Amino acid sequence: MTVTEQLSALDNILAHGDLHSVFQPIVSLSQRSILGYEALTRGPSNSPLHSPINLFAIARLAGRLSELELACRKSACKRFNQLGLSGKLFLNISPDSLMEPDHKPGCTLKMLQTHGIAPSNVVIELTEHSPTHDFQLLDTALHHYRAMGFNIALDDLGAGYSSLRLWSELRPDFVKIDRHFIDGIHLDPVKREFVGSILKMASASRAEVIAEGIELGEEFDVLANMGVDLLQGYYICRPQDPPPRDAGTILPREDSAADHTSEASGGLQELLHPQKAIRQHTTTCQVLDAFRADSTLNTLAVLDDQDQPIGIVHRHSLSEALLKPFAAEIFTRKPISRLMSEDYLRVEMSQSLQQVSRLLTSRARQRIEEDFIITQNGRYAGLGRAMDLLKLITDEKIQQARYANPLTQLPGNVPIQKRLSKALSEPREALICYVDIDHFKPFNDHFGYARGDEVLLCLARCLSSFINHSEEFIGHIGGDDFILLLDASNGPHKLEQMLEDFRAKCRRFFRAEDLQAGFFSGEDREGKPQQFPLLTLSIGVVRVHANNGCRLDSDDLANLASQAKHQAKAEPGYSLHIIDTLALSA
Ligand code: C2E
Ligand code: MG
Ligand code: MG
Repeated sequence: MTVTEQLSALDNILAHGDLHSVFQPIVSLSQRSILGYEALTRGPSNSPLHSPINLFAIARLAGRLSELELACRKSACKRFNQLGLSGKLFLNISPDSLMEPDHKPGCTLKMLQTHGIAPSNVVIELTEHSPTHDFQLLDTALHHYRAMGFNIALDDLGAGYSSLRLWSELRPDFVKIDRHFIDGIHLDPVKREFVGSILKMASASRAEVIAEGIELGEEFDVLANMGVDLLQGYYICRPQDPPPRDAGTILPREDSAADHTSEASGGLQELLHPQKAIRQHTTTCQVLDAFRADSTLNTLAVLDDQDQPIGIVHRHSLSEALLKPFAAEIFTRKPISRLMSEDYLRVEMSQSLQQVSRLLTSRARQRIEEDFIITQNGRYAGLGRAMDLLKLITDEKIQQARYANPLTQLPGNVPIQKRLSKALSEPREALICYVDIDHFKPFNDHFGYARGDEVLLCLARCLSSFINHSEEFIGHIGGDDFILLLDASNGPHKLEQMLEDFRAKCRRFFRAEDLQAGFFSGEDREGKPQQFPLLTLSIGVVRVHANNGCRLDSDDLANLASQAKHQAKAEPGYSLHIIDTLALSA
């Protein structure tokens, strides 16, 4: 389609309102609910202007951005209302449309009023488009919309030119991490660092973080483990009309995001207080009686008829609510669902302490100390307390420190044994890898222990950077021996990358002439001059099948791993030897 044809197609679209909106849910993991929907515009099907990117580009060119914006917003609000969707409506708005001469201020508010949508339920998503004028423009747009009572999200964080400046100065209510950082996050430690930093900044600036563009279960699991609570992407649900209304139907089963690094499986059992809960129809008066009868009772979960949590009542907030003028008269005979809070943390029994801790700390500061709800297979099981969680995590950290290798701080032999035994009973294929440095002894003798330690630290960092810490594992047996537990699907590729990375990094430990020669000269134990090969790696790998199909015990595993390592060491230079346990039993 030529530009002229596109301009005429745009004309047609605007003249006939030939636009429609699809909605993509944004879900809250901690509450297993849909926070709201992002409205995304579609032009006529079978047209190049079906995609909003093309549509907006041509409207920008034609100077008709405001007109298109308004038409899109109208379509989104109308349909949102027709479908009776609940939760927040996220609307994309190009800040440059505010600058067009025919922009009509106040139109959005009027339109929302027509469709019965409260401004406080609307989140305006703003994106940077060009480096030069955008800061001022976004600043103007933000104040314009905030003054009308809308919430603001900074869209595509990290893709723009001055995202951090925008964030720190505009103080949006939500930040949406650009898809670039989410794509392949399970394979990229640097992306995880970025998202980790974004979470810290968000907690300091009281913004809520949304990760968008999640396409894979692995990406979802890593984000969940990192404590990102608000998620959006094809993996959860594609944009559609009508969109689903129940998070339960689109979220993966609750145990799929379990943090496999946790030592304790079913990690929350120790936190569980099997406290009785109340039904949504219970009257406020009965709830007050329950609190009066037991002075140690602080929190009650509110359940629906299927035993699913729908709210929470805290002693302090209930008393506060009832102290308001006439509140006691109005509410005591009413069901507690009128006064309960829907803002609570809910976790599933199979989640790990680390996951719960991250979810808890990502909540607003004043809510961190509140009890949280623990469910088993989605049904209420009891309550958990932040103090107990803190204590358990501290105990776990002390245990970890006790068994960590003093040089690399990686888990030592006791946690390694535990993790390997656990791997033997897991329902997935894994690679157990024994990593060893070749010729490390003569290197240590010749260059000294301090240099040797530097090599070990370099190797530890290099191996760690390829590990997906939410599912895989690295331990340091001692000396130059390391153990890795890798996911079988991309494990061999990762091992090749580790070898390459270490090969590049360990060049710095040698002089140029050693590198050139391919060896270094030293003395053997009797003091005779000798040439030693440069450092290389040997990795022995054992492939373990799902549910330990070969019925190995941990001693068998250790023997096989050491056998594989010896075979790898028998080959000169960088080498990898894999033993497949299935081939053994064949
Ligand atoms: P955006 O606001 O960043 O919207 C997210 C885009 O990512 C949408 O593309 C959505 O369909 C897509 N997406 C969602 N989940 C995934 C995923 O898992 N993987 C991948 N690869 N993509 C995913 P869409 O609908 O083509 O919209 C593109 C952009 O066009 C939007 O980016 C937004 O900036 C703009 N846009 C869409 N509708 C409107 C509108 O009504 N007004 C304005 N001003 N801009 C709009
Ligand atoms: Mg958006
Ligand atoms: Mg975006």
